[in-house]
Amino acid sequence: MAKRDYYEVLGVARGASADEIKKAYRKLARQYHPDVYDGPKEEAEAKFKEIAEAYAVLSDENKRAAYDQYGHAATDGQGFGAGGFGGFGDMGGLGDIFDMFFGGMGRQRNGPQKGNDLRFNLELSFKEAAFGVEKDIQVPRTETCDTCAGSGSAPGSRPITCGTCHGSGQVQYAANTPFGRIVQSRTCDKCHGTGKIIEKPCPTCRGAGQIRKTKTIHVKIPAGVDEGSRLRLSGEGEAGIRGGPPGDLYVYIMVRPHKFFRREGNEVVCDIDLSFVQAALGDVIEVPTLDGTAALKIPEGTQTGTIFRIKDKGIPYLHGTGRGDQHVRVKVVTPTKLNDKQKELLKEFARLSGDKVPKAQEKNIFEKMKNAFK
Ligand SMILES: [Zn+2]
Ligand SMILES: [Zn+2]
Repeated sequence: MAKRDYYEVLGVARGASADEIKKAYRKLARQYHPDVYDGPKEEAEAKFKEIAEAYAVLSDENKRAAYDQYGHAATDGQGFGAGGFGGFGDMGGLGDIFDMFFGGMGRQRNGPQKGNDLRFNLELSFKEAAFGVEKDIQVPRTETCDTCAGSGSAPGSRPITCGTCHGSGQVQYAANTPFGRIVQSRTCDKCHGTGKIIEKPCPTCRGAGQIRKTKTIHVKIPAGVDEGSRLRLSGEGEAGIRGGPPGDLYVYIMVRPHKFFRREGNEVVCDIDLSFVQAALGDVIEVPTLDGTAALKIPEGTQTGTIFRIKDKGIPYLHGTGRGDQHVRVKVVTPTKLNDKQKELLKEFARLSGDKVPKAQEKNIFEKMKNAFK
């Protein structure tokens, strides 16, 4: 079938202004609107497509110029020719024009919808986060009803097309607007936009097509996750609607603090007490690490607050190889509850060092203060 000239389709002259083209298009679009047109629906649809196609080309300055020069050859094969012009569901750039007149044909409400994403907070121990862990988590979510396979209708029955909106989910009505009388649409009250009426609801889901279930999901937590890390489990969210794909599940990691270790990125920090003798003379001590113990050499004359590093005993890197380091901060502890012998030795030590032996040796300074208040 030979294609009609676009100017002829819209009934405008070749030199028509953009405004004239727009006006002509709106007039025709209303006239051939499938809900208004007094004739077969297919005819209205075909007419409407022809008009929309003509308008899509003539309303675009560049496409119009090409069309003026080369005719249909300029636009065929570029998405506007007979082959490139798809069905109503595949309008490409013409979608907005159709939405204007058809209210989107209720396509969004009627069609498949992706299920909602879910968030699950998972608390891990410090070591689980460091080395990774596998867990079964219980996720409450909606799933497609097995009994009716999501249709909402009892087995053996099927939903019928809504008589009010004829399945579109939208009802059209004419409204007076500043741009003229325009056909607008709203969601159908009877079927709530689904386009279908369920006569015999499924006994399992009571017509919803979905049921709430607590699903056990096996999660593999990689080594190196930290507070606030997020894992995405594709397709483990809420069930999709009308055959749409399910949403995703996001597992948010929370990490319980450890009584001995602290974490700074991939580094692990801890505090170790040393006796003043160990600090003065040096020692080799056993330090707890995330995966056992490590020997740490304390050199002679170590001061309180010194930080020693034990390589590769920190947190494994989340996406990669290797680990951070462990940092050990030492605190030199002053001895308490010394007996007389120990005190004597310390005084001797002080004398040998040339230090002054404290005057308040015989009586503790606090004891003196107590006496003073009596
Ligand atoms: Zn069901
Ligand atoms: Zn309806």
